[in-house]
Amino acid sequence: MSVMYVNTRNPEEKVSASRAILKGLANEGGLFVPTEIPKLSVPFEKLVGMSYQEIAYEVMRLFFTDFTEEELKHCIASAYDDKFDTDVIAPLTYADGAYYLELYHGKTIAFKDMALSILPHLMTTAAAKNKMDKEIVILTATSGDTGKAALAGFADVKGTRIIVFYPKNGVSPIQEKQMVTQKGDNTFVVGIHGNFDEAQTGVKKMLSNPELAKVMDRNGFCFSSANSINIGRLVPQIVYYVYAYVKLLENERIKAGDAINIVVPTGNFGNILAAFYARDMGLPVHKLICASNENKVLYDFFRTGTYDKNREFILTSSPSMDILISSNLERLIYRIVGDDAARNKALMQALSSEGKYSVSKEEMEKISCFYGNFTSEEDTLRVIADLYRETGYVLDTHTAVASGVYASYKEETKDPTVTVIASTASPFKFTRSVMQAIAPEFKEEDDFALADELSRRSSVPVPQAVEEIRHAEVRHKTECDVQDMEKCVREFLNLKD
Ligand SMILES: *Cc1c(COP(=O)(O)O)cnc(C)c1O
Repeated sequence: MSVMYVNTRNPEEKVSASRAILKGLANEGGLFVPTEIPKLSVPFEKLVGMSYQEIAYEVMRLFFTDFTEEELKHCIASAYDDKFDTDVIAPLTYADGAYYLELYHGKTIAFKDMALSILPHLMTTAAAKNKMDKEIVILTATSGDTGKAALAGFADVKGTRIIVFYPKNGVSPIQEKQMVTQKGDNTFVVGIHGNFDEAQTGVKKMLSNPELAKVMDRNGFCFSSANSINIGRLVPQIVYYVYAYVKLLENERIKAGDAINIVVPTGNFGNILAAFYARDMGLPVHKLICASNENKVLYDFFRTGTYDKNREFILTSSPSMDILISSNLERLIYRIVGDDAARNKALMQALSSEGKYSVSKEEMEKISCFYGNFTSEEDTLRVIADLYRETGYVLDTHTAVASGVYASYKEETKDPTVTVIASTASPFKFTRSVMQAIAPEFKEEDDFALADELSRRSSVPVPQAVEEIRHAEVRHKTECDVQDMEKCVREFLNLKD
């Protein structure tokens, strides 16, 4: 069986996995989706005892059907190695009634490392496979974490360059310092005077501009994307949900076939969509719990069937979720409208012209496995403080949003199902907010002094990712207005018309 990838806005465009990875975004602004979601071919009992890398292979081989076994195993081995600070890659930690799946043990201490450690390998393999002779230019919009993880993944990778746009005033101080100190001659980081949605829209515009593509081609370049619109990001994210289930089985916390709940702190809807795909593959999941911060556009959508981004954009303490246009929701919409590209396209056009669209009640019923809720700013800090006081375990702000939503869900439903919460970042990435929660009396302006104090109080060493930037030189100082993003790219690549 060969899974292909079809454009959510045009059924005529259907490509192989390697082509979809190389291209990133489909034509007309559409996204690539698998023509079918393959079923796990190995029973869960057989996965027990397997390493993260082995489970990764069992999942990815079903989606990346034009990669050979050797190619895929090589990509997996190159990605999930000692760049991670633990052999198990994604530890599962129990605290106060839930299992936290720690996805932040990679190089840049956020869950984006889980997929961005492997994407450069998938992409260079795909390029060789398709006899690509152009230099690949990765264009990335970031709400803070994708940028650094993509930079770390692609820095000095031959045949690639990477350009990252981040909202100048919309990321945490540690996030910004991580990006602007990035080494590698093929890297370029730009702070834009705007928010993440504007960065993402600007990038998508460039990726789907046929005129610009021709200019790129003449200059020996082609664009791709490291955002979760690339299926090369999405598929590796399915792995850790299967892995978490297997670990629960292994430790006899559940029996084979028992359903679990999965809670995901959500922004662009990539991580939770991967959990939805895992469920489609046969992973027993009862509820997919979608957690939002005060930018609660998804909560409103799950309640009403109307997606409406016409609202105030709020800067919160969980900046990687400060998003009003959740790109990957399009993949779910495409599914619930019955893989109808024309209807999906009309809805997405309504989103871009009027800022909203609605789906019917019957269509919403197809995704009744989702539950949505949100956590306020005040509650986010309280969740961190309470859990720390009771257990000594420290959450970052994003994971705290998820934990807060799970508490609301439990109170509402009394559902006793075993629950896994995706823990998406190390608390050391959002030290200032975390310290404000657990030690409000500790007044300190310097982020590294805050990190040292957090380390003392949590008995967790300051991660290497933070140590690395303590004294690192700032290498990227470019800023630009939203409308000048293309100009920036043209200058960096020295494009000639
Ligand atoms: C990116 C990110 C999220 C949101 O993930 P999506 O896939 O965009 O929904 C949540 N938490 C952290 C720490 C992130 O970096």
